[in-house]
Amino acid sequence: MRIDLHTHSRASDGTQAPGELVRAAAAAGLDVLGLTDHDTADGWAEAADAAAEAGVALVRGLEVSTRHAGRGVHLLAYLPDPTYPPLVAELAKVLDGRDARVPVMLQKLQRLGIDITLDDVRRAAGAATATGRPHVADALVALGVVRDRDEAFRKYLSAGRPAYSNRYAARLTEMVEIVAAAGGVSVVAHPWGRHERTTLDEATLAELAESGLAGIEVDHQDHDSEDRRDLRAIAHNLGLVATGSSDHHGTGKSGHDLGCNTTDPAEFERLMELAAASAARSGRPAPAVVGP
Ligand code: AMP
Ligand code: FE
Ligand code: FE
Ligand code: ZN
Repeated sequence: MRIDLHTHSRASDGTQAPGELVRAAAAAGLDVLGLTDHDTADGWAEAADAAAEAGVALVRGLEVSTRHAGRGVHLLAYLPDPTYPPLVAELAKVLDGRDARVPVMLQKLQRLGIDITLDDVRRAAGAATATGRPHVADALVALGVVRDRDEAFRKYLSAGRPAYSNRYAARLTEMVEIVAAAGGVSVVAHPWGRHERTTLDEATLAELAESGLAGIEVDHQDHDSEDRRDLRAIAHNLGLVATGSSDHHGTGKSGHDLGCNTTDPAEFERLMELAAASAARSGRPAPAVVGP
């Protein structure tokens, strides 16, 4: 059983259509795929349609933009009812913040002498519901300003770089509660990404577990072997599920091939048991795993 629980499609900043991503997962030998676009469930239907035929079990999810102690935290939400009003309301605020930030970034780029317009970004974003810095990066690539997304982030778009702009994010603890009330389960994505251990230390993760957090993503490319060892120990201490995943973005992010990290089948089973319990407790029509 090969299980990859964190991937992106063109509904956000991946480069594959949802159906294409599902077929790529099958071709990569995955048995279970989690689709977790940033802040939108808009890829779910197409992915679900493709799953059975491709022979992949699809776990529908999201990667919600949240904030904790002034730092951005990505929260993976699996199998929540996407029509749960408090969830819909928070995602709408995040998506509005994403859209509103694009012109601000463009103005900063223009002031640097780069001739980039909203149309350039719209073209790069295509039908994406969640616009993001990667689409601005893609527009810069198309204009020949940079070679790839990585260079665009390094030069312009990362926090602290000249075209960076902040945006709205949900409150982390509140989002953990909303996901549970929507009948889903939440897992903190790459908690120590970019070698930052202080925002989500063991005490904070323990508090989140009290609020209903189900797991933490341990095996992720942003974690080195020491991070993984320590996070696995924390998951064990706190009774949290430990997941592993690629955070695949198609060709948008190198070194994140489908299945480059995977989730242990026993951990996945625990996560799905917690999801079933959450769905039952919530009384919401939470989605199930679809596919073979
Ligand atoms: P945003 O969602 O607009 O805040 O942009 C953050 C997203 O950009 C992350 O989810 C990553 O997928 C992507 N990203 C961040 N740094 C890089 C990079 N160096 N190269 C490619 N993609 C990146
Ligand atoms: Fe992304
Ligand atoms: Fe993330
Ligand atoms: Zn991601």
